[in-house]
Amino acid sequence: MSSAPEQQTDVLVVGGGIAGAATAYRLAQAGVETILLDRHDLGTQASGANAGSMHGQIQFTPFRDFGEEWARRWAPTLALLKASVEIWKGLNDELGVDVELRLGGGLLVASDERQLRMIERKVALENSHGVASRLLSRADLRAVAPYVADEMVGGELCPIEGKANPLLATPAFAAAAQRAGATIERHVDVRAIERTRAGFRLETTKGRFSAPRLVICAGAETARLARMLGAEMPIEGHPMQVNVTEAVAPLVPHLVYFAGDRLTLKQARIGSLLIGGGWPAAVDPRSGRYVVDLHGVRRNLAVARRVVPAVGGARLLRTWVGVNNGVPDEMPIVAALDAVAPGLVVGTFPYLGFSGGPIMGELLADLARGVEPRFDLSPFSPARFG
Ligand SMILES: Cc1cc2nc3c(=O)[nH]c(=O)nc-3n(C[C@H](O)[C@H](O)[C@H](O)COP(=O)(O)OP(=O)(O)OC[C@H]3O[C@@H](n4cnc5c(N)ncnc54)[C@H](O)[C@@H]3O)c2cc1C
Repeated sequence: MSSAPEQQTDVLVVGGGIAGAATAYRLAQAGVETILLDRHDLGTQASGANAGSMHGQIQFTPFRDFGEEWARRWAPTLALLKASVEIWKGLNDELGVDVELRLGGGLLVASDERQLRMIERKVALENSHGVASRLLSRADLRAVAPYVADEMVGGELCPIEGKANPLLATPAFAAAAQRAGATIERHVDVRAIERTRAGFRLETTKGRFSAPRLVICAGAETARLARMLGAEMPIEGHPMQVNVTEAVAPLVPHLVYFAGDRLTLKQARIGSLLIGGGWPAAVDPRSGRYVVDLHGVRRNLAVARRVVPAVGGARLLRTWVGVNNGVPDEMPIVAALDAVAPGLVVGTFPYLGFSGGPIMGELLADLARGVEPRFDLSPFSPARFG
């Protein structure tokens, strides 16, 4: 431990991914003295390693695997995503950085009638929650996306979906937070957290920090840190991989998903195709480190080529691994845990947390300031895990 003097502030935010950077920005904007701590540099974990998809619909895989009862419980999350996309739309002006947002629409395609009937039920549920997604017949699909393979029988179009650039968004929030007065401390690993009479004291690799209020939004590490204060919640890290090709001519204007297998496919502004969809990475048995699973890469690329045959003409440049923040029911956790420790706020937006980053910033800042959030957050309490 360093012998640096203890630093005090009003709110300590642990985690400098998109959730933490957006939270620090909203707090500083509201005039709250804030220090953000990250053990690495900002946006270097999930928030910088993700595929940049802007999601606004219920994901097909859990809808199929967990069923409609799950989807109805999950559905309040749609309102958070919708609100987040609205914030995304204003970020270029608000943060002064072009975050390369493009909302060309999300296109979920089906290869058989069974998938299409499931999509129909999913669209109905989304519509009942204010998401203007629509079912596409085979003819609709041809008209909307002539680049999709002929074998596809229809699908869904969700207009509020698309993409943004993960490498730009978190640093843009962090820079805006600093301009608004927040202090950002990089390479500060929080090792221990204790309750004090005045709030919280954090032992870190760069000395002690204390504050009456604490926001823990450390992605996959959130549960481990919250446990130091006696709060239990099931957040786990899931290593996943994403592929990027060389730049090719404009080919895919949508965010494309496939109901028959795991796929997200979209084209970055510079022309590269980003191909992912939640394919797990592997663990190297000797070092224990996460490594690319080549079998998964081949299967992921084959799925992409099946859905959009022209993708086969692009050469793969790189595959990387990032650790996703997973929650068993795939719903966000956003809560003030005063019953555990007055002043404690926790938050994680699993799997879709790049899309949800801006709304997480607003909600976590509201909770830390004691301001009533504009959403009923009871579905997102960790109390649901019993
Ligand atoms: C491969 C992959 C692809 C994805 N694709 C998409 C997508 O296309 N669209 C989408 O919406 N979402 C996607 N996601 C999910 C999304 O990236 C995450 O949900 C989101 O980035 C989580 O943001 P966060 O700020 O909560 O966490 P993170 O970005 O993980 O940030 C947490 C931060 O906490 C810090 N931290 C942890 N422990 C400590 C400690 N002890 N002390 C100090 N700091 C600490 C870490 O260093 C890190 O910077 C993807 C994720 C992965 C891994």
